[in-house]
Amino acid sequence: MKAVLWQGTNHVSVETVPDPTLLLPSDAIVRVSSTAICGSDLHLLDGFIPSMEKGDILGHEFMGEVVEVGRDVKTLKVGDRVVIPFNIACGTCDYCQRGLFSACDNSNPNHRMAEALYGATSGGGLFGYSHLYGGYAGGQAQYVRVPFADVGGFKIETDLPDEQVLFLTDIFPTGYQAAENCNIVRGRDVVAVFGAGPVGQFAARSAQMLGAAKVIIVDRFPERLRLAAEAGIETINYEKEDVLIALKEATGGRGPDHVIDAVGLEAHGHGPGALLDTAQQKMKLTFDRITALRWAILSCAKGGTVSMPGVYGGLVDKLPLGAAFAKGLTFKMGQTHTHRYIRPLLAHIEAGDIDPSFVITHRAALADAPQLYKTFRDKHDGCIKVVLNPWG
Ligand code: NAD
Ligand code: ZN
Ligand code: ZN
Repeated sequence: MKAVLWQGTNHVSVETVPDPTLLLPSDAIVRVSSTAICGSDLHLLDGFIPSMEKGDILGHEFMGEVVEVGRDVKTLKVGDRVVIPFNIACGTCDYCQRGLFSACDNSNPNHRMAEALYGATSGGGLFGYSHLYGGYAGGQAQYVRVPFADVGGFKIETDLPDEQVLFLTDIFPTGYQAAENCNIVRGRDVVAVFGAGPVGQFAARSAQMLGAAKVIIVDRFPERLRLAAEAGIETINYEKEDVLIALKEATGGRGPDHVIDAVGLEAHGHGPGALLDTAQQKMKLTFDRITALRWAILSCAKGGTVSMPGVYGGLVDKLPLGAAFAKGLTFKMGQTHTHRYIRPLLAHIEAGDIDPSFVITHRAALADAPQLYKTFRDKHDGCIKVVLNPWG
């Protein structure tokens, strides 16, 4: 089959590799019909996430048709159309039982490696996201093996096109969980979102769905700000305005009640950081440039929430923790518990509350992935979200 492979920092290629096979009786094989490139993939492209190996298959946002099931799979059958959450979860461990699917204890055989590196577990397994997260082959490919298929295969029984349901795999639940973590008081609270990438776009629209009185989004790319403005979201271009002053002015002086950092490593990674060679040089940038998170903490009103869907790794320092303490802020962060949100958000899509395809700007064949990784990373050509057709 054809697949997108990580070949080293800033280098991906499309190659022919062996088809996946069932390894465990609880596995299924899915023929991928659509797959997307995520901001999280850019951290791999940049070389910020350790433990990638040359030839690893990328991709964690994908959907398709079940073509084979292991003998223990009960809820899926050949021919089912499924979306697959980007986290792999067993469904039975204590964490999964509590709905903390991204913390699954049984889906990441490499927990120990993360403990050695960070002194803490990396959480459950992820598709196409390094050996730290289990070393699973990703879904930017024609076929993919789905472990724990009964838990991770969500049947789509409506005839909604792929483009409307594909983002249930990650960015819609991720934006939604980020907004939900803010405990928004309907009709009262103002929410500011830093980063108008795909995750920020869904976080901002989710904050609206959850009743925020006003949502403000911050970025520097006019087309990203424009897309948000189309939904009635206020915008701040941080290259044109002083963010902290603008946020105060927009909130009667108190600052947004809650803030969402939908930037993460992007703040330092995809600019000059992408061109640096050594881990030390990259870490230096990490120390120097965590601007979005600083703005988030400094702007947030007293008693508010700093919700962080943006991915961080390694050590980050120089945070204004004094301000956070003085204001009594609550921090919420982490990988999304995607499984929790797929059914309720699908119901919102079916009800016409939101059409998630609004973020797509580029549609292409899998063979064009190397070029589109660059286009998405560099925000060229108005690129906001790329969807690839593995058979195109
Ligand atoms: P993206 O790279 O397309 O978007 C990031 C945006 O942030 C860009 O538009 C950029 O211009 C903007 N930005 C950079 N510095 C900024 C600053 N100082 N202030 C305001 N905006 C700034 O990526 P994306 O696909 O939207 O993903 C965003 C983040 O969410 C990434 O870190 C990604 O890894 C993470 N993510 C997390 C989860 C999860 O489970 N928690 C899931 C998916 C993605
Ligand atoms: Zn993603
Ligand atoms: Zn589990």
